Amino acid sequence: KKHMSDISREKSAELFEKAKNYFPGGVNSPVRAFKSVYGTPLFIERGDKAHLWDADGNEFIDFCCSWGPLILGHNNPQIREAVAEQLYKGLSFGAPTRLENELADLILSNNTYIEKLRFVSSGTEAVMSAIRLARGYTKRDKIVKFEGCYHGHSDSLLVKAGSGLVTFGETSSAGVPKAFADETIVIALNDKEALTEVFSRFKDQIAAVIIEGIPANNGLLLQDKDYMHYLRAITQEQGSLLILDEVITGFRLGFQGAAHYYGIRPDILTYGKIIGGGMPVGAYGASKEIMAHISPDGGVYQAGTLSGNPVAMAAGIAALSILNQPDFYQKLEQTTQDFVNTLRAYIEEHQYEVKIFTVGSIFWFAFTTAESIKRADEIDPASMEKYKIMHRELLNRGIYFGPSGYEVGFISAAHSTEDLQKTIQALKEALDVVFQ
Ligand code: PMP
Repeated sequence: KKHMSDISREKSAELFEKAKNYFPGGVNSPVRAFKSVYGTPLFIERGDKAHLWDADGNEFIDFCCSWGPLILGHNNPQIREAVAEQLYKGLSFGAPTRLENELADLILSNNTYIEKLRFVSSGTEAVMSAIRLARGYTKRDKIVKFEGCYHGHSDSLLVKAGSGLVTFGETSSAGVPKAFADETIVIALNDKEALTEVFSRFKDQIAAVIIEGIPANNGLLLQDKDYMHYLRAITQEQGSLLILDEVITGFRLGFQGAAHYYGIRPDILTYGKIIGGGMPVGAYGASKEIMAHISPDGGVYQAGTLSGNPVAMAAGIAALSILNQPDFYQKLEQTTQDFVNTLRAYIEEHQYEVKIFTVGSIFWFAFTTAESIKRADEIDPASMEKYKIMHRELLNRGIYFGPSGYEVGFISAAHSTEDLQKTIQALKEALDVVFQ
């Protein structure tokens, strides 16, 4: 049960020092700074299939997968060829292209929940636009979100719960006007009582309730199906829209995402990076009737020079064409189940206080004795110390997990049997160190 000596991070450390002169905290997105785990962030040089190489030449099996979108792994030949072909034709036109139609057709003809969509360039943008659409459509201002769900960094959504069952939110970032936070109500996940109360207190004021397909940004918080059906029913009854944010679950749980998983019909769906095969893309979609409110058809303004960018569209078409092949998801889920079950058996045998929660090809290690975790406040922050140890031991054994215990892991179709066997061995050893 030995701590394995640390990999060299000399070159990464050098690059990080330089980066600190250029970027706040040395990074262009906060979690990359490795604040919640041991050591300096690794600067990545390249990826191929399920593998990553850093600036010091260390090789890793990657379970972060660019935070989910790389469901086909790195450097997929079909995506690469499609991007390369487009590169010779042009990088950006700011005009319509055939490629947008093709990607939209792949999405819409395989999804019974939305009839029209609009491409944007990130998940943040997709959600921000969906919120505006919901407000424009219902002519109401307030939105309800859940503690433990992340929807990008737009003002209305950088809001956390105050105290009490139902309260106005408090901003979770400096720079968000209080007036914005006052329009966002934050409640606990998987809690029917809170939902009921919010609709009685703010009757006829709530434009939309937004929830992640399956909350996966603050641990993996699997919601009760029954609760999701209640959420659908009460929003419909009260004339509010239900926005299902499928930035992570869309095309990860299948083309019909979490909506199909629960068997509910949301009003607006939002998608992110996975539909661009790793390129910057997002989208939001709804019925024809709701989408008719978007400019230039309707009065809700939303635009973007890079929206429907041809290179990103080409990558997306290549990616979704592969995902659309028969049994793709079934195979990936079976691989994930086998991986998780092998580890669960080891954990049980050793009576380690850690659980693996999983859905589709997403998994989350929770250092807890609880049988399930469905709400953000059920996660013990002190348990993150254990993740930190595990993360370090894994990196030292060539396994790359997300740099925070609140992040989920992803298995891609590029993870080979050998990759997963090596990972299982590394995880067993890492857990032995955590619990020694
Ligand atoms: N919604 C959800 C559910 C997300 O997980 C994320 C980020 N992973 C976003 C929105 C924001 O997406 P982006 O970081 O691409 O702006």
